[in-house]
Amino acid sequence: MAIIDPIITGLSSGWQHIDASTLEKDRHFEADVVIVGTGAGGGTAAEILSQASVKVIMIEGGALKSSTHFDMEERHAYPNLYQQAAALKTADKGIGIFQGRTVGGSTTINWTTSIRTPEPTLDFWQQAKSVKGLSATELQPWFEKMERRLNIEQWQYEANRNNAALRQGCEKLGWEYTVIKRNVKGCWNTGYCGMGCPVNAKQSMLLTTIPSALDNGATLISRVQSR
Ligand code: SF4
Repeated sequence: MAIIDPIITGLSSGWQHIDASTLEKDRHFEADVVIVGTGAGGGTAAEILSQASVKVIMIEGGALKSSTHFDMEERHAYPNLYQQAAALKTADKGIGIFQGRTVGGSTTINWTTSIRTPEPTLDFWQQAKSVKGLSATELQPWFEKMERRLNIEQWQYEANRNNAALRQGCEKLGWEYTVIKRNVKGCWNTGYCGMGCPVNAKQSMLLTTIPSALDNGATLISRVQSR
């Protein structure tokens, strides 16, 4: 069964995309807003601003890859889609950080678990970082908007053996657990989300807000490196 790649289709229709690694001389661009990074924050901002007729340029350090390239192989996905080829770690090297380096950022390679920012985190930002306007109440309509936009719903399938064992352990210990919500539409349940979804079921920025922004006239510049 042939899988249609909406990125290839969009590029054919005239999306403004520039691979900065192919530039041979300086270019000048004009925009109202330049967004650095095309992950969850950048993609969402690009869509909302472009819907308001703001001229947007999206800047991304990684390459533009899409379902045509997602072959479910770690040896291809890690060097091509991840920061430091998936070797990024915390300063003490204690925890690996799987951060995306591709158009769509980490939303292209994450495992689709979609949770609202926890209230203790929002409280910490407000108290320790003086962040204003991001309480759970103030963010509720925005969370709801993006949950609708990205088709975020509780996973309906029966748990696999690994997760069933976790659930059983939680129940025996009396620990709280929940079934995660995921941003998928027509998921094949392949379990290869971390290599990039080969069938375009994952509702990442790559498949949702970035195409929308490009349809609205935004420009995407990929493989940008700072000097
Ligand atoms: S089909 Fe579903 S499980 Fe498979 S990679 Fe895509 S989102 Fe993940």
